[in-house]
Amino acid sequence: MINMQELELLRDALATLEEGVSELPRFTPTFDAERAGEVLDEVATRMRDNYPYFHPQYAGQMLKPPHPIARMAYALALWINPNNHALDGGRASSAMEKECIVDLGRIFGWEQPLGHLTGGGTMANLEALWVAGRLSPGKRVIASEQAHYTHSRITQVLGIAFAPVAITTNGRMDVVAVERLLAEGDVGTVVVTIGNTGLGSVDPLADILALRDRYDFRIHVDAAYGGYFGLARDLDAEQRRHFDRLGEVDSIVIDPHKHGLQPYGCGCVLFRDPSVGTFYKHDSPYTYFSSGDMHLGEITLECSRPGASAVALWATHKLLPPVRDGEFSEGLDGCLRAARALWRELHKSSTFTPLMQPELDIVVYAVNAETTSATSRRAREVFEAAAERELHLALMELPIEVFAAYAPDVEVDTESVMCLRSVLMKPEHEDWVERITALLEASAR
Ligand SMILES: *Cc1c(COP(=O)(O)O)cnc(C)c1O
Repeated sequence: MINMQELELLRDALATLEEGVSELPRFTPTFDAERAGEVLDEVATRMRDNYPYFHPQYAGQMLKPPHPIARMAYALALWINPNNHALDGGRASSAMEKECIVDLGRIFGWEQPLGHLTGGGTMANLEALWVAGRLSPGKRVIASEQAHYTHSRITQVLGIAFAPVAITTNGRMDVVAVERLLAEGDVGTVVVTIGNTGLGSVDPLADILALRDRYDFRIHVDAAYGGYFGLARDLDAEQRRHFDRLGEVDSIVIDPHKHGLQPYGCGCVLFRDPSVGTFYKHDSPYTYFSSGDMHLGEITLECSRPGASAVALWATHKLLPPVRDGEFSEGLDGCLRAARALWRELHKSSTFTPLMQPELDIVVYAVNAETTSATSRRAREVFEAAAERELHLALMELPIEVFAAYAPDVEVDTESVMCLRSVLMKPEHEDWVERITALLEASAR
């Protein structure tokens, strides 16, 4: 789990950092190292109570280990503990954040977006929907039934009306249903999920953009999980068609702490039109404007934010630029291949039925049984039995219509079905698919 080289590199870099304060009279804070060591050991013991997220046999929820460069840079930054709210709190890390925003904007072909990092996707979506609500007061926000639950909750916080949109059996937002709602005339914003959290399905952005010919509405894209996949080489043509149009939407959320190799606490919101920055206007006497440069605190809802997140992301971009045909994008292709390989293996199995073909790197599969209630029970049993073999999966409850499209012969005696779900978001998963499949079969026996 731990490569000690990281600690050596960190020590060397900390020496460089410390040279920067060599002009100051010497001052090093002290602490009770012996007692702290005891407490830290207790922490290490407590922290053993976790699933092994870093390991390829963790094939469950959407949890991806940070890259060592991100972890080292984040740790290094903690000796400064910069606050990216204002330039006074973190000059270097604020500049690094602005550079990161340029890099992230370019993924979507935006040269001058307004944007910043956030605590995560929820906060980023909140800002995007807040701006959307200001621009079309009194109008509804709609999002797919498989959109992240945060959208219905955030709209509640913002006092904006929300309506869910039906999905098709491949897990995508149904364009016909979108148009039906648009025709009612009170929809201000359509949230398009590029890679939903449950199934990894990509909403048909190109078709929703086409509706703008007839209806006036704003498009916010929630690409918290899926956004980076636009850099992959091996996307299917159908998904490519939508990713290639991302530059035409109004706002985008992408989470570097999902597929961007970052520690938690790193989301991002981007607006195509920088003039929406005026909505953030405040004149707080607490924010000291020490220079004419733009303070990130002027365009964020959150005030104090960890500069360390920006430092970690900047270092990661430096080592692994978020561009096509590079080492970073190759990692995403590895995830796509891993998910497709597992889907194919499960297709050959007489024990499991995989549902929709993975559009990104999530595979959802049912355990074969006579009835939907037995299928659900079997999914829970396999989930437990696999965990005993150190194969860690996730469970997901699906509407019966979606399940029945892939397993039409199973007798329906429930309203929903429990399935198994694996997010194969580590490129190394590709080499472990065979082993994962063998463990799955053994767990179902
Ligand atoms: C994870 C996720 C969110 C929520 O983001 P957090 O970083 O967990 O707050 C929103 N939308 C999608 C599509 C996600 O995958």
